[in-house]
Amino acid sequence: MNKKSLFYAIALAIVAFYLAMTAFYRWGDGTPPRITLVEPFSQAGPTTPLVLHVEDAGTGLQEVTVRLVQNLESYTLAQEQFVAQSPFSIGGNAHTSYDLTLVPFDDDTIPKRRGLVTLVITARDYSWRGFFEGNWARLEQNVAVKFTPPRLEVLSNPLPVSQGGAGVVIYRVSDDAQRYGVRIGETFFPGYPNAERAFTAFSLFAFPHDLPASTPVFLVADDSLGNHAEQRVDVPVIAKTWRSRTITISDRFIERTVRPIIAQTPEIEDLDDPLRNFLQVNNVLRKRTTDRLTAMASDSRPEFLWNGAFIQLSNSKVEAAFADHREYRYGGKIVDTQYHLGFDLAVTKRYPVEAANDGIVVLAEFFGIYGNTIVIDHGYGLQSLYAHLSSFAAEKGDVVRKGHTIGRSGMTGLAAGDHLHFSLLLHGAQVNPMEWWDGQWVQSHVNGPLHRASLRPNDAGTPKRDMQNRSDVSPPSP
Ligand SMILES: [Zn+2]
Repeated sequence: MNKKSLFYAIALAIVAFYLAMTAFYRWGDGTPPRITLVEPFSQAGPTTPLVLHVEDAGTGLQEVTVRLVQNLESYTLAQEQFVAQSPFSIGGNAHTSYDLTLVPFDDDTIPKRRGLVTLVITARDYSWRGFFEGNWARLEQNVAVKFTPPRLEVLSNPLPVSQGGAGVVIYRVSDDAQRYGVRIGETFFPGYPNAERAFTAFSLFAFPHDLPASTPVFLVADDSLGNHAEQRVDVPVIAKTWRSRTITISDRFIERTVRPIIAQTPEIEDLDDPLRNFLQVNNVLRKRTTDRLTAMASDSRPEFLWNGAFIQLSNSKVEAAFADHREYRYGGKIVDTQYHLGFDLAVTKRYPVEAANDGIVVLAEFFGIYGNTIVIDHGYGLQSLYAHLSSFAAEKGDVVRKGHTIGRSGMTGLAAGDHLHFSLLLHGAQVNPMEWWDGQWVQSHVNGPLHRASLRPNDAGTPKRDMQNRSDVSPPSP
């Protein structure tokens, strides 16, 4: 044997050995791909996601097909072919995994039929088993599909509601609803189930002071599968006009009020300019405070903690009313405008501040533009806020009764003089406290309808208190 033929023999042996190894590897791969539904589901609707993971550790994936089968008809959701690795390589560039996320019923080509549908996922690898067919894997699952939204039906005849005022809607909602309530513009007022009557619920809502009276009021419900129901509620809305006030601000005022706010609010930095400091506190911080109030409302207790009418601070004079439109004048120019959402009530300096109704203190701390502030949760999203306090007489977690002293009035935060700023909020939306101070209104607009729906015992509410020093408040315009 010469050198040349020895070389050929060795080369041939190497090739033969390699082919044998490849064949052994390809025949030997007896493990089919593994199909996994990452987020398994047995019910599906318009937004249910399909999250798929397919794996093949051996010769690699050849194809994956995802289909829906209903009434012997098949709809292909996805079909993927993978290029084979180079014919004689072992492992190497094989497609060992495949991931897919899609929303099957988002596709318009899939008929939106109710009932059972079978999800069929098949995958095969590049094994030479099964007469070079590959190893097959198959996952089949029955899925109940639902495209019908929850059912809604208004049960109460909603009373007229004022801009900036509140109301209640009582309704029936099917038990597939996961989230439901009243929506006006962008504002959502969640509903609560009525434990006394199956499938009925109620929402306390506020008509935002800054939305046109023509804005529709909707009852909405969503199930967990992406089906959405929306129904217009026929609520007559009484338009209001708000007062305008001009407030002149000086460097001295900014120095006295804004600087301590910035000092106690780490997320706001000192811009070293009186006007810019004022504007960021009056805008950025005001907005943040509002957002925090909305977030706090989501933890409101699902129970009626309040009883009868709310009380206005005793002996107080109204210095500013709900939704006064304020123009801020600085150096002869209007530099900002805001709505004053609440009442400014003044008596004497460091006057004892009374809880307006029964509830639980959920905040007692320095709170941005409001200075030292107490927030009381009255349940079902209704909360009262007491701002600019000079001292606290209650702390977070305290159960308070109507009339109890919770602090003393002061001028902390953005306040020109000693007074109590009082706000009432429904799920973070400011409402006009005048309604809630009026025992007759509370009875006819809230407690009465709730009583008729078995939600509250018959409670005529506390007798209507004399309106104190209301001369400053413009009469409500119809
Ligand atoms: Zn105020």
